Amino acid sequence: MLNTSCSVSADRSRSTKNDVVVVCGAGGFIGGHLVASLRRDGITNIRAVDQKPLDRWFQRFDDVENFQVDLQELAACRRVLHGGAQCVYNLAADMGGMGFIEYNKALCMLSVLINTHLLKAARDVGVERFFFASSACVYAADKQASPDVIPLKEEDAYPAMPEDGYGWEKLFSERMCRHFTEDFDLPTCVARYHNVYGSHGSYAGGREKAPAAICRKVISAQLEGRNEIEIWGDGLQTRSFTYIDDCITGTRMMSDHCIPGPLNIGSSELVTINQLVDLVEEIAGVKLKRRYNLDAPKGVNGRNSDNTKIRAVLNWEPAIRLREGMEKTYRWIYDEMASLVTR
Ligand code: NAD
Repeated sequence: MLNTSCSVSADRSRSTKNDVVVVCGAGGFIGGHLVASLRRDGITNIRAVDQKPLDRWFQRFDDVENFQVDLQELAACRRVLHGGAQCVYNLAADMGGMGFIEYNKALCMLSVLINTHLLKAARDVGVERFFFASSACVYAADKQASPDVIPLKEEDAYPAMPEDGYGWEKLFSERMCRHFTEDFDLPTCVARYHNVYGSHGSYAGGREKAPAAICRKVISAQLEGRNEIEIWGDGLQTRSFTYIDDCITGTRMMSDHCIPGPLNIGSSELVTINQLVDLVEEIAGVKLKRRYNLDAPKGVNGRNSDNTKIRAVLNWEPAIRLREGMEKTYRWIYDEMASLVTR
């Protein structure tokens, strides 16, 4: 079922600096970093697309074409691909951390409209490479029941029993990419991201993920002179966390070489949530009392990325250590929060 057996070499890259590249979800965390990376590499025709008002984008660049549209509408998808585009990155989705996806299943599933309409519009203008950001939430629940997890291989998504709502939508949309390739010759690339973290993303408000949430809680405790933080679950659940720079490198390699996937883009450095808190406390230079909220959503008991396939296909895998990525993430969140206090 997976067509990822070929490995890549630099001369097989299909992208050129003059390609029209459309980044959907560009006002979000990963999309913002992707636009920054494309600009750094001299890509000149970038269209950045998001439904949020421009002043709420995490990163915005005035030398690219910025569009504020709702990609759930087919007409909006046609508008941003108007005149043709070589490359589309679809990172637009209504999503957030465990709390958000647990309590907003219908909203998460409505992202299927973005994926369906973008695929149709991309097919109609003859896009050469369509990248879709899927998620480790597509993996079957019974393979993630223990904290002592066996890393997830791409084939572990079937027989299907993904995360309710968000995971089902991602798995369905992966499947749609596959059939658009088979039936309409639209080249699609599907990556399964595992817990991406870094600067310029949500750290408060309900859509943030565990690394940013833990940084925020530790920083709030420091700034407000408290010595206790709340942890969701018992802290024993295990995860791997992927630093944003690795996520962008893998994303661009997959798209440039038009690797169909699905491929895991995930770190394989497994930690418990308690170990993640230990790390943030070390970075912050504090030791706090932990109050475990066993009623809060905590997701599966264990999840890690098996990187056998990405190593074989791209001769690369995410390698940035959690400590290095978390130091940078913590500093960014600290500066953001401290600047709000002093304003
Ligand atoms: P994000 O929420 O920061 O960015 C998503 C962006 O999509 C937001 O800016 C949002 O406004 C935009 N969007 C939502 N609905 C839209 C619509 N109808 N039209 C136009 N724009 C719309 O999330 P992110 O962390 O940057 O994630 C990017 C992609 O990667 C998503 O598809 C997400 O499901 C996937 N993913 C992320 C992670 C992670 O850890 N961050 C893990 C797995 C998968």
